Amino acid sequence: MTDTILEVSNLNAFYGQTQALFGVDLIVERRGITALLGANGAGKTTTLRAVCGLVRSEGTIRYEGSDITRIGTAAIVKRGVAHVPEGRGTFAELSVEENLRLGAYTVDRATQTRELDRVLTYFPVLKERYRQQAGTLSGGEQQMLAIGRALMLSPRLMVLDEPSFGLAPLIVAEIFRIMKRINEEEEVSILLVEQNARLALELADRAFLLETGRPAISGSAAELKNDEGVQRAYLGY
Ligand code: ATP
Repeated sequence: MTDTILEVSNLNAFYGQTQALFGVDLIVERRGITALLGANGAGKTTTLRAVCGLVRSEGTIRYEGSDITRIGTAAIVKRGVAHVPEGRGTFAELSVEENLRLGAYTVDRATQTRELDRVLTYFPVLKERYRQQAGTLSGGEQQMLAIGRALMLSPRLMVLDEPSFGLAPLIVAEIFRIMKRINEEEEVSILLVEQNARLALELADRAFLLETGRPAISGSAAELKNDEGVQRAYLGY
């Protein structure tokens, strides 16, 4: 039996009266990387929000064997799920250091400092920008800061919403290399939303494709790369 850290079954999600997800299933293996793919508006962000308890949902979300569907966002974070949202969500007025410390605001300052040193080993450029205001960082640096902040609480599952958004290909490649290192060295499992299917399938071991809020295709990254429908619609072959 595979060791699954996250298992989403028959997930429906709603914004007021509007239903955005219809019976979504997905899994993330422990220490694995799952990519969630799909076109604009397919429901990728909503799926991540549901996992983090940020949108009204029905169905079952099991994390490390227990049902987290109705425990609320704070409890989900406490159990080791870190969310790197769309748009990064860093505080522009605060420095790099302050943003990182906020990621671990519940622990004492000495522990924070230890975590900071650990996190900065993945992001040497943030070390150079330590006292700089986050709002003055480049887009790539801000994305690194968002990932770094999520890493401050030593999560066991990281949920990332389009980390490549708006960034130049070289920067994206660097960020994906860092994510792979974090996955391997910190043993963090990753659920990654991406519009760029080609990139995501390079990094991930498993992928799920959504179409208008519904599960469409799923399989190993290798299977999806070789799927003709996926190639035509998402990989541009
Ligand atoms: P994108 O790649 O464009 O971010 P996505 O796959 O992440 O798309 P979602 O953002 O999850 O898609 O949106 C799924 C559906 O839910 C869309 O039809 C969208 O219009 C709707 N939706 C998203 N956020 C809200 C909201 N706050 N209120 C109402 N409807 C919403």
